[in-house]
Amino acid sequence: MCLQHRRDCACGRQTAYLNFYDNILTPEILVALYCPECRHLATWDEESMVEDCGWIMEYDLEGAQFLLRQRGITREVTPEFLFDEGYLSWQGFTPHDLEVNAALHRRLEPLIKENLPLYLKTLKEEWLAYVEEVKAAGWRKAQRA
Ligand SMILES: [Zn+2]
Repeated sequence: MCLQHRRDCACGRQTAYLNFYDNILTPEILVALYCPECRHLATWDEESMVEDCGWIMEYDLEGAQFLLRQRGITREVTPEFLFDEGYLSWQGFTPHDLEVNAALHRRLEPLIKENLPLYLKTLKEEWLAYVEEVKAAGWRKAQRA
């Protein structure tokens, strides 16, 4: 199981759902999170930051390297590596996938009793359409989906 965690961005207007692959890294490794509205507060540093559709994640790379080494992962740690391999990135493809998914289930729920096969088909179709949407929007994790 992967640890799930919520984090507010620096301006507090948005909350992101985070995922920690293999539970190696801890929430503290994410030093700061900036949404598109507060990214101007960040001083861009490619050594410690990664960008995704206007959001910026700032990592404690030394801390991450330490924790990964303890688990036998000795390759050079970069912000892109942490994000793309899922060691500390969104839960899903975007900061809000968990909410999108929950809303979709809530919206289609009445169909479960009426027509289960239709429910399952619609759920799948709508989710795939959403994935295409986030892919087209340029979300980093969706490019590999
Ligand atoms: Zn913000």
